Amino acid sequence: MREMILCKLGEVILKGLNRRSFEDKLLSNLRRRVSKYGSFRVYSKQSTLYVEPADDACDLAAAFAACRQVFGVVAVSRAFPCEKDAGAIAAAAASYLRAELSAAKSFKVESKRADKTFPLTSIQLSQQVGGALHRAFPHLAVDVHDPELTVFLEIRDDAAFVHGPAVPGAGGLPLGMGGTAVTLLSGGIDSPVSSWMMAKRGVALEPLHFFSPPYTSAAAKEKVLALARELSPWCGRMRLQIVPFTEIQEEIRRKVPEDFFTLVMRRFMMRLAQSCAEEAHARAIVTGECLGQVASQTMEALAVTEDVVSLPVLRPLIGMDKEEIVRLSRRIGTFDTSILPYEDCCTVFTPRHPKTKPRLDEVRDAEAALDAQALCARAMAGREFVRIKP
Ligand code: ATP
Ligand code: MG
Repeated sequence: MREMILCKLGEVILKGLNRRSFEDKLLSNLRRRVSKYGSFRVYSKQSTLYVEPADDACDLAAAFAACRQVFGVVAVSRAFPCEKDAGAIAAAAASYLRAELSAAKSFKVESKRADKTFPLTSIQLSQQVGGALHRAFPHLAVDVHDPELTVFLEIRDDAAFVHGPAVPGAGGLPLGMGGTAVTLLSGGIDSPVSSWMMAKRGVALEPLHFFSPPYTSAAAKEKVLALARELSPWCGRMRLQIVPFTEIQEEIRRKVPEDFFTLVMRRFMMRLAQSCAEEAHARAIVTGECLGQVASQTMEALAVTEDVVSLPVLRPLIGMDKEEIVRLSRRIGTFDTSILPYEDCCTVFTPRHPKTKPRLDEVRDAEAALDAQALCARAMAGREFVRIKP
């Protein structure tokens, strides 16, 4: 018998009639994520998903780490199977949880019996195993109300299980249950976090990056690929679309009054995002915009930006402080890449006096000299597609 991984379901269990499809989605997401670490059986029982290695070649530590990045799982623990006998269970618990039992000051044992033919009641089993552990670790106090360590035991048909301590999982909803959205991915700190936040709510992502050679370098593009790769253990396989943006930006510089450069550029990003979304059957556009962070992120500027699209624009960072965004970025694992120096198409041709309270009519006038349709069509035709895998 081999050590295995247990994943606790989060909000999935609140889904009532839809629960089955949420659980199935989560199972298939988990299966896919652990499959590259060996051959695992992944199945669900009583609000718990079991990830069981089929042989000794499985890399359990890597699978455990992968499970912690699967949205829909709120807690992950390891469990050790043993013979269904109180003495064998106590011995297994003492050796499997030696480090935890040695470090804790107080403990209790909690048992569950799925196999009702087991001769002891749950309470009797907890008492017997608790007594044996107390003798083996005499420094431990028994505290049934607020123990530092809870030893979980489970009697199932095939075996008894001792659970290790649970660690937090990714939370959220299973990827794919919330449909698909196009996410605008720059090389900054914010947009990887906004992408992650929507993926956490079950949204599959179609990332989009605008690049403007020679104003932006190959290194800047490489950085965005790196960010997408860092997101993919959480967000799954993705297809990154790289949209050429140089011609649009040069046209803007030639024909638009300087104060409106950024706003008009952002409207083009939105138009292109909407076209890509329609093509991918995506239902929303995600950005890393945050109220008040820069001139183009006032309420007036956001209204002008989204005026050109009909899909909802989701801005999960809208009310967050930079510090909170940075903290999340570190947790996700994108921060170190995000702070590498780079130039973004947003940082070329920036106006000296950007409008912070633009009016829609003046922005429409400012871009009237541009052939938006033709420019967008050429940018769409020049896209490059890159497959991103965990
Ligand atoms: P970030 O840290 O994500 O770059 P930011 O605070 O620098 O964000 P802006 O540069 O104004 O803000 O961009 C706002 C949002 O527009 C970004 O979060 C991102 O969603 C999108 N965006 C900006 N530049 C690009 C780009 N080159 N390609 C794709 N999306 C972009
Ligand atoms: Mg940026």
